[in-house]
Amino acid sequence: MELVFLGTGSNNPTPHRGASSLALRQNGLVYLFDCGEGTQIQLMKSNLKFGRITKIFITHLHGDHLFGLSGLLCSLSSGMTKNQHENDGTETESQDVAPSVILYGPLGLRKYVETTLSLSSSKLVFKYDIYELIPNPDDGIILSQDDTDVLFKDSQTKTVSAEFISDPSHEKGGYYQYHLSTDDNCNVYAVSIKHRLPTYGFIIIENNLPGKFDIQKLQKEHGLKPGPFCSKLKAGEQVTLESGLVLKPEEFVGPSRTGRKIVILGDCSNAMNIIPLAMNCDILVHEATHDDTLKEKAIEFGHSTPSMAADVAEKCNAKCLLLNHFSQRYRPVKQEGKLDSTNAKKAKNEDTEDDITTDLLLSQAKQCYPSRPVFIAEDFFTYTLQLPK
Ligand SMILES: [Zn+2]
Ligand SMILES: [Zn+2]
Repeated sequence: MELVFLGTGSNNPTPHRGASSLALRQNGLVYLFDCGEGTQIQLMKSNLKFGRITKIFITHLHGDHLFGLSGLLCSLSSGMTKNQHENDGTETESQDVAPSVILYGPLGLRKYVETTLSLSSSKLVFKYDIYELIPNPDDGIILSQDDTDVLFKDSQTKTVSAEFISDPSHEKGGYYQYHLSTDDNCNVYAVSIKHRLPTYGFIIIENNLPGKFDIQKLQKEHGLKPGPFCSKLKAGEQVTLESGLVLKPEEFVGPSRTGRKIVILGDCSNAMNIIPLAMNCDILVHEATHDDTLKEKAIEFGHSTPSMAADVAEKCNAKCLLLNHFSQRYRPVKQEGKLDSTNAKKAKNEDTEDDITTDLLLSQAKQCYPSRPVFIAEDFFTYTLQLPK
């Protein structure tokens, strides 16, 4: 399992930091989280393959998380056309085939995708599904008549509603969660977090993994060499060998291992809703748009600072905290090449001569979360999650 940060800037892309996008690679497939402008270019610069993207999750509809989506879908489509031509000279367009890509995101995502594709006369050769998350009572959003008409009268529209999970430890007696998918050996959930638009955090929980197979014990106790019977033992089956020897799986296979848990949040000034589901996660990806001296400004615009991210990490006992979504005023530490003052100003998009790096954000977060690893995730930062022991 690998997390690849494709774009880690807030608001707008610059030559040194792309707009929001993050990829989770597992079992050869790629789940993409957000798709800001320029995500295609970042994908090309990474070692990820377009064709491996099967699911795209959009945290919210602000442009810096969304404006690359239609272009990416078109490129996926042209890539597929080419492949199909190479394979059999035909293009298929069937209603019965499983969708190649499934998108999940806030209400309005379908309208955005369909409008941009139709206005630009773009036709995708593959089937895609869009699942929109219906606001839950905690979001404080009242659906318009238009929304209600589209959602509940059009049978083609796919939606996901939140379910209320009782939790006495929660200040409201429980919380709302969306169960989005169960494919690819993991479950994906979403929970609302506080920003200026309906915004979600995603929780990916891997299914439990089988226990470790002790091949050495098998060799030591019975003098056996590895063979086809090993896979049966690994799968929990009892095996009787030709010699009559009976091998029980519990003797050679350890207890099942808890799957990994990854939490990826969109922009937020308060993500406390995520805590119950995010508890003991392996990774928490949390935004840190501004540093702690600008906390008031951060909250005013629905954003967070390093100490706020650390607070969430502490409350859910995250094993590792990765910060992203930096204001362009914070220069990447390992910025390649030298900026002249004009370009530096452009890159920072601020009328300021300050030269502040993301080291400031890192030190503030580490101070508040000293017990666990904390990283600044600049573009192309890659974090590998090892298999559980
Ligand atoms: Zn943003
Ligand atoms: Zn935003």
